[in-house]
Amino acid sequence: MRVFKFGGASVRDAEGIRNIGRIIAQTDDRLMVVVSAMGKTTNALEGLTRALCGYDLTGFDMLYDQVVSTGELQSTRIVSAYLNHCGIANEWMDITRIMVTDNAFRQANVDTDLTLRQLKSYMRVHPAHVYVTQGFIAGTADGMRTTLGREGSDYTAALLANLLNAESVTLWKDVPGVMSADPLRDSSAHLLPHLTYDETERILAQGAQIIHPKTIAPLREKNIPLYVKPFLNPEAEGTVIKD
Ligand code: ASP
Ligand code: MG
Repeated sequence: MRVFKFGGASVRDAEGIRNIGRIIAQTDDRLMVVVSAMGKTTNALEGLTRALCGYDLTGFDMLYDQVVSTGELQSTRIVSAYLNHCGIANEWMDITRIMVTDNAFRQANVDTDLTLRQLKSYMRVHPAHVYVTQGFIAGTADGMRTTLGREGSDYTAALLANLLNAESVTLWKDVPGVMSADPLRDSSAHLLPHLTYDETERILAQGAQIIHPKTIAPLREKNIPLYVKPFLNPEAEGTVIKD
């Protein structure tokens, strides 16, 4: 099984979702497809929560997670329905019932043992070649939705890959891969085709925002390679991160 993660930019509009269909259609492997909210939906939902709470989010973390988590529930419904429409049969998985966390709303911590058990039994009851699920969001044992921290979908993909002993994770992005510098600010920026986990963690610690910093540890633990590839040019080599 492989894990594919599509970020907000890749699902921002209808053409983006069609492109996901093309990428998945080219893959024969069993897939766990992790999707973020469309475009800047999470920011918009955050704004909505602020408006509701009088612009002060303090003390409303639980409410925040109930509202903001709807972005991924929506985007994945659309992606799943579109794939079915194109003949790519898939199972829409509500990760808020599978990935169990504590109640540290907005920065929830995953209970990996319980999550593994839930994931295995879900996949036994719902066997599928392609699963479509949500990044960034999860749920408490008593059914409240939680979130894992902003931009946390990469981390979800890595955690699922770890639990599933996946062959690889691919982050499909709107950049060619991991670059040596920000190409918008530095014209000498070039693609880094190979990185180790350590090199990647160093780059992320220096503030590069290309991958969520919590993504590397679950992959390193199981030695799972991480590919960072451009969703507009799926054949391009992109970056591979492994030891
Ligand atoms: N949609 C969430 C966010 O924008 C998670 C993610 O994109 O990784 O923070
Ligand atoms: Mg995002």
